[in-house]
Amino acid sequence: MRVLVVEDDRDLNRQVCDALKAGGYAVDTAFDGEEGHFLGDTEPYDCAILDLGLPELDGISVLERWRKNGRAMPVLVLTARDRWSDKVAGIDAGADDYVTKPFHMEEVLARVRALIRRAAGNASNDYTCGPVQLDARASRVTVDGSLIKLTSHEYRVLHYLMLHQGRIVSRTELTEHLYDQDFDRDSNTIEVFIGRLRKKLGTDIIETVRGLGYRVTAPDEAA
Ligand code: CA
Repeated sequence: MRVLVVEDDRDLNRQVCDALKAGGYAVDTAFDGEEGHFLGDTEPYDCAILDLGLPELDGISVLERWRKNGRAMPVLVLTARDRWSDKVAGIDAGADDYVTKPFHMEEVLARVRALIRRAAGNASNDYTCGPVQLDARASRVTVDGSLIKLTSHEYRVLHYLMLHQGRIVSRTELTEHLYDQDFDRDSNTIEVFIGRLRKKLGTDIIETVRGLGYRVTAPDEAA
C-alpha cells in the first residue's frame, strides 16, 4: 500500500510518514501544493493525506485539480482550522474524510486504513484466505492461528493481494503500490517476494496467472 503525504510542516510531515512506514506503508512526501499535486497526478496511490494550508498551491485547489483530472484515490484532508466551512470546502472538493489538527497519529492511521479498505469495497480490516489471516490493524499475519514473521515488503505484497482478493494483479501494479518514489524498482524482485511468501506461509494461496500476474483466491471461491 502506497500513501502520499502533502504537508508543509516538516516535523508533522515526518511524524505522519514515520507512523505510516511503521504501519507497513510505502510513503512519498511533498512539502508544497505544486509538488503534491504533481505526485498525486502522476503516481498511483492507495490514499493521499493532504494538508489544506499549503504554499505554492492550496490544498483545496490541489484536490480539485486531482478530481478534475480523474484521480480517484481516497483523500484524507488535514486542517489546522477547526472551522466547519473548511471541512465543507474540503469534502465538496472531493475529500473522503478529514482530521482536525492537532490529532492523534492513531486516528490518522485508523482513517487511512478505513479509506483504503472502503475504496477496495471491504467492510473489515481482517482478510482471510483459507488458513491465512491478515490483520491490517496490527500488521499481523497468521496461518492456522500461528503468527508468521514477514518483512515489510513481504507484508505489503500480501496485504495488497489480499485487499484485492479474487482479482489478477499484475507485477507492474504490485511494484507501483509497494515502493515509494525513490526506491530503485525492479519488477523481478516481486517474484522473489512471492516465492518467500509462499515458503513462509507454507500454503499456496497466491496463484501465478501466466503472463498476467498474481491472484489470491476470493473468500467465496476458497470455501
Ligand atoms: Ca500547512
